[in-house]
Amino acid sequence: MSTGVETKKVLSVKARELLKSIPKVDEFLGWLAADGEELTALVKEAVRETLEECRAAILAGTLRSQGGLAPELLRTSFTAKLARRTTPNFIRVINATGVVIHTNLGRSVLPAEAMARINAVGSGYSNLEFDLATGKRGSRYSLVEELLCQLTGAEAALLVNNNAAAVLLALDTLAKGREVIVSRGQLVEIGGSFRIPEVMARSGARLVEVGATNRTHLRDYRAAVTEETALLLKVHTSNYRIIGFASEVALAELVELGRQHNLPVMEDLGSGCLLDLSRYGLMKEPTVREVVAAGPDVVTFSGDKLLGGPQAGIIVGRREIIERIKQNPLNRALRIDKFTLAGLEAVLRLYQDERKALRLIPTLAMLTLSQAEIGAKARRLTRRLRKPLAGQCRVSTISTVSRVGGGALPEYDLATVAVSLAPEVFSVNELEERLRRAHEPVLGRIENDRFLLDMRTVAGPEILRLANTLLTVFGVPA
Ligand SMILES: *Cc1c(COP(=O)(O)O)cnc(C)c1O
Repeated sequence: MSTGVETKKVLSVKARELLKSIPKVDEFLGWLAADGEELTALVKEAVRETLEECRAAILAGTLRSQGGLAPELLRTSFTAKLARRTTPNFIRVINATGVVIHTNLGRSVLPAEAMARINAVGSGYSNLEFDLATGKRGSRYSLVEELLCQLTGAEAALLVNNNAAAVLLALDTLAKGREVIVSRGQLVEIGGSFRIPEVMARSGARLVEVGATNRTHLRDYRAAVTEETALLLKVHTSNYRIIGFASEVALAELVELGRQHNLPVMEDLGSGCLLDLSRYGLMKEPTVREVVAAGPDVVTFSGDKLLGGPQAGIIVGRREIIERIKQNPLNRALRIDKFTLAGLEAVLRLYQDERKALRLIPTLAMLTLSQAEIGAKARRLTRRLRKPLAGQCRVSTISTVSRVGGGALPEYDLATVAVSLAPEVFSVNELEERLRRAHEPVLGRIENDRFLLDMRTVAGPEILRLANTLLTVFGVPA
């Protein structure tokens, strides 16, 4: 009978033998060269990592026989390591979470029309800052300003990197070193550390909070106006709601108060919706046009939330104020790039025809899908899975709800259909991980020990690829 100590000794002798039979780096490189592989620095790194991994596995006792060092195995391991070094880190994924504006997954999916413009403008020179009519230097903002004014009813417009930059730039221009009055119910934090009080501090403006968390009245603003006041700010609570005994001051009333004291009024609208979604069965969000019509001097919103375009911050408002913001040297540091501009122009053009916008802008199309349309996608997927996965995973469809996401329409549920997967050969957590680590990763959610794929956010052409990924994950040939 062998004791534990003896077993350990026997193993380490074996291990030492195994360690000696790991091929040398040069030997491995020789095989690769013989196969016609060019011995680049990346190849050498991948070889070293492969051999180092064998060494570590032997010492850890997980590699225990010569079979584990078979040349085919080493070669496969090397190929995977080389591939990891040469393939992009930033890749496309399938969003089966049902969250339409998913900030972690890149927010809005761009329409084909926008991608075509980005490609056309980005792969050659362009008139980014060149006025083709006069042959003189032009302004990048003028390329979309007219469109933005048409769509929102504003006098003038300006674009920056994102809405956080828009708020910062507007505050810096209008209120640096002076006071800005904001309701305590509107001191918003957006995911990723954008907080109104902190942005305010960065801009050099002093925050003057008025009212209570749940209720703020016009008299609260009026009482706070002093010689030092530079701006009245309203922040649209786009990612939460205060319900119950609550009230806030309407923008039109703030505008009136601003007029009386000769103070500019700004609204940070957050999401920025260009069409009335309540006409398509969604909850009412004020459109930018409605907000502009209430008469504020400045309105800021995002390009990649409900608008469905690329990441951008859009500032619209009165010409004289927009001009001042354009002249701010900080604007140069926050300026929008040509790809964003090309994509945004294409998206804005789609809004000139509302039906086109709804059909061709993926964010709007996904938000307005009916449960029947989503159900049809779910059935297309289940049909491809049921038979090949029989005995390995139970596949069904269920009615559930999706979220808009991206700080828009909080607590608003959209009826949807999900494909529900109950794996029988490994755990649901294992399924989640395998899908997340797949060649084209698939993200969904776990609910009641099932993995749910919400088909609202899965595009038609993705269904076949999603089915194949699932079959691969279960080891079934696709
Ligand atoms: C989302 C949001 C922001 C930040 O916009 P980004 O485009 O993400 O920079 C600022 N204010 C409000 C109210 C928002 O909803």
